[in-house]
Amino acid sequence: MPIRYIDQLSDLKDKKVFIRVDFNVPLDAKGDITEDTRIKGALPTIRYAVEHGAKVILASHLGRPKGEKNPKYSMAPASKRLSELLGKKVRQATDCFGDDVTRDINAMKSGDVLMLENVRFYPGEEKNDPQFAAQLANGCQVYVNDAFAVSHRAHASVEAITKVVPTIVAGFLMRNEMTFFDKAMQNPVRPLVAILGGAKVSGKLQVLEKLMNKVDKVVIGGGMAFTFLKAMGYSVGASKVEDELLPTAKKIMDKAKRKGVMFYLPVDCVVANAFEATATNFVTTVQEIPQGWMGLDIGPASATLFAETLRDAKTVIWNGPMGVFEMDAFARGTFAVAEAVASAFATTIIGGGDTDAAVRKAGVDNKVSYISTGGGAFLELLEGKILPGVKALDIKVKK
Ligand code: AMP
Repeated sequence: MPIRYIDQLSDLKDKKVFIRVDFNVPLDAKGDITEDTRIKGALPTIRYAVEHGAKVILASHLGRPKGEKNPKYSMAPASKRLSELLGKKVRQATDCFGDDVTRDINAMKSGDVLMLENVRFYPGEEKNDPQFAAQLANGCQVYVNDAFAVSHRAHASVEAITKVVPTIVAGFLMRNEMTFFDKAMQNPVRPLVAILGGAKVSGKLQVLEKLMNKVDKVVIGGGMAFTFLKAMGYSVGASKVEDELLPTAKKIMDKAKRKGVMFYLPVDCVVANAFEATATNFVTTVQEIPQGWMGLDIGPASATLFAETLRDAKTVIWNGPMGVFEMDAFARGTFAVAEAVASAFATTIIGGGDTDAAVRKAGVDNKVSYISTGGGAFLELLEGKILPGVKALDIKVKK
């Protein structure tokens, strides 16, 4: 899909440039930012616009204010952090449109940065309301999408707005996401290995289906592995299982066989007598999970096996932790896989959210090729879907 990027525009000087970023950062109880990766991710695009003399208007959502103004979800902490990172003042608007915002925009000089308030303070954002989109656009000449993580949502600041702003481009974060994704999925250097984990199978079924047509090996860990193990006939004790998906799990394994895709499941796991950090736990083979005990991590033999699958890998995609890595007792499997991914002689791509956190916690975030900022968006791309926010950037589509 042909997309133009911000550095393909000839002149940004004094132009009002609206950049949709994803500053949906985690906050602690005091309202301080605990993780600013998402803000850092958008810095190259913001800096580029500033350095080229644009009047930079930023928009984002934060949390789930459910269409109502709520100071708890104000963008103010994000604009403060951005200001520190950019080394220049970022003005925080009191709203995302209206007279005060228009006054702020009209007062902007070349290179100034204004952060609008949370776009989800209005129901029009999630409804993709064209009128709200026009209010947001507020006479801007250029729209930049640099919010990959929300591009699977047809929301007003991602989709409808592209119909009202004359020039539509993508930012550098978006370019990185698309480039790495293409490298992994469109033209992968093989063997291509996909590692999937996390709690639920349900959210990942279509992804698995699609992956069977693309990958050479699939490695399944985390809670989702137990549905597959049960479908193979093992008794998995009190482990997390989605019983209604057992036939589908079976079908996926059959498809893997038909397609010649190597399909790896854990051979051992760490079982616990409760879903608690301090629960009694021990390692057992998957054949011998006792009744009433739940598998909360892959075991050491599985970690070795999974690492072995990466030995000849040239491209690795990983989404979803191998265990309940938030609890130390059940984090070893995820960290071992993180280490193995990081030391693979391959292009390694980590898909957002929990896996991102796990890789950082394991201290190997600098050793992987790319960490996607998208969780849901990353999975939808893997599924082969065209994201609405990306489709809206297609320069062939007549606006
Ligand atoms: P998901 O949103 O489906 O990617 O799930 C991520 C969550 O899966 C993480 O918070 C992990 O704690 C959780 N998880 C990983 N392994 C297991 C497991 N064996 N049992 C229950 N939850 C798990």
